[in-house]
Amino acid sequence: MLKPPIQELQTYYKTIRTRRMQLILKVQATAFRGIRDYLDNNGFTELLPPIIGPVTDPGIRGAKQVTIDYYGKEYKVMSSAILYKQMAAASLDKIYFFSPNVRLEPLETATTGRHLVEFVQVDIEEANITYEDAMRTAENLVAHIVSYVVDEAAPYLEELGRTLRKFRPPFKKITHREAVELLRSKGEKVSYYTEIPWEQEEKLSRMFDEPFFIIDYPKGARGFYDMEDESRPGILRDFDMLYPEGYGEAISGAEREYRYEKVIARMRESGEDPAKYGWYLDMLREGIPPTAGFGIGVERLTRYLCGLSAVWEARPYPKIAGVYSP
Ligand code: AMP
Ligand code: MG
Repeated sequence: MLKPPIQELQTYYKTIRTRRMQLILKVQATAFRGIRDYLDNNGFTELLPPIIGPVTDPGIRGAKQVTIDYYGKEYKVMSSAILYKQMAAASLDKIYFFSPNVRLEPLETATTGRHLVEFVQVDIEEANITYEDAMRTAENLVAHIVSYVVDEAAPYLEELGRTLRKFRPPFKKITHREAVELLRSKGEKVSYYTEIPWEQEEKLSRMFDEPFFIIDYPKGARGFYDMEDESRPGILRDFDMLYPEGYGEAISGAEREYRYEKVIARMRESGEDPAKYGWYLDMLREGIPPTAGFGIGVERLTRYLCGLSAVWEARPYPKIAGVYSP
């Protein structure tokens, strides 16, 4: 666990002029080129991300949404644009956007080194594919980014003292149940029915030297939009990709529930009021094709690529839970 550098964060804006921050931002910009290089050459269309809307992703692990007053009505700032990207893929087939997200993360996340309140994820979604296909896209994308950065940003990585090695997909897959069993065998107290807590996830990530997938999360651990496997009730057709070396979660993804009646039932089960989701349910009622996809956080990616101790080092003006800073 990292100590929250409250004092330092209040004046963190000064780091923009340090050599270290320059190097990190150079590597980050190279990674952005690598992402677009892969996606643009594989038939994806880049779209502009929505920033505000009547509803946003409720499946955000204890974080709070931000509400703004929109001419007397309420809008949410995107905690993730999941609902929008599903509809966009239903129309354009293979899409992505760089999506700024705001989540008022719980105060204890200030010490994880992995949580920002304001961050960006690249949201990727494809129509008519399974979650296995989405994992193939995810591993090919991550392998491409790492390879691109190793080739294009070598001098910056060297100056940062980071040794990064290329990976060849496919990446290893373990089920959520197997991950829990593995952790329990090491004396960790983890549940079969929830997402793996940050600390244990970090421990798990230290047991691997390549990125790997955790698949098939239990229902209840995730949002209403992750598809339940009909042949295995209670199990979702979804996944996370974790970085090795203790860096933890890189990606969350899933096959999406897209059938109107099922979505309503899942919303009710997870305590969401369907009445709030008017536009989304209207689209589902008209009928959309199945989609699957994932989101990859760019600050965590940068942290991994550069070997940084904390995610706030990947932004010149980081926002950490509870810290008021520029
Ligand atoms: P989630 O919807 O919570 O699975 O988020 C999708 C991806 O965005 C994660 O896999 C992370 O890479 C990234 N992410 C989520 N929350 C944060 C956060 N608070 N700070 C930085 N990155 C995040
Ligand atoms: Mg996640």
